[in-house]
Amino acid sequence: MIKFDQAKNILLVKEEQETLFDEDFLRKRIEFWRNIYYKEKNIKRANFRKKVYNGIYRIREGIYPITVHRPTFSSLNPIDKTYIRTYRMIIRGIMNYSISLMKILMKASGKDLGYSLVEKGAVKSIEDLPKIFLKQKIGLLDIVSESFNTMKINLYECMSCYGTSYIGIALCDFEAGVIEGVLEKLYGKNTTIEKYCWGLGYHFCGFESYFE
Ligand SMILES: [Zn+2]
Repeated sequence: MIKFDQAKNILLVKEEQETLFDEDFLRKRIEFWRNIYYKEKNIKRANFRKKVYNGIYRIREGIYPITVHRPTFSSLNPIDKTYIRTYRMIIRGIMNYSISLMKILMKASGKDLGYSLVEKGAVKSIEDLPKIFLKQKIGLLDIVSESFNTMKINLYECMSCYGTSYIGIALCDFEAGVIEGVLEKLYGKNTTIEKYCWGLGYHFCGFESYFE
């Protein structure tokens, strides 16, 4: 069987790290999204469905267009949205055949990558994970809280779901897999679920990891 090393290029391509964001700008963007998380985290899923009008979400005072235009990543590279659209064409194509298959495969693929990132030394501690997500333009990773047996990690402007309309399912199985795999190698076996997602009507992704 052919086995690809998913993490290989992340370590090889060092120069791309130089083109990342200004720290201050990044901190402000994460603060902006963190506030949206605080506003929405207690809204029940069922209340989202009614709030989509003419391609625009209205959640309390916030207005969110349905789009592939990720503001932070587009400010770095205006053609970001083209790649996002292409990536989603592939994923939605798979979903047209089987949503459950897509979810299983993407989670497994992400988890393998998570393992490999730690094994190859690209991620040495949890603090390295936001840098990898940024470098690969997966999204803005925000570690919200850590405790003895749970961890809450948010993802903003996620490549898999940012700007999609409510469809009633979480979409970011790949990202959940990466987090689960990395945390398993760093701390031990865990189950990572995506509790909040654009696909569920929220405007951020929120993952919760439960350790055994
Ligand atoms: Zn998501």
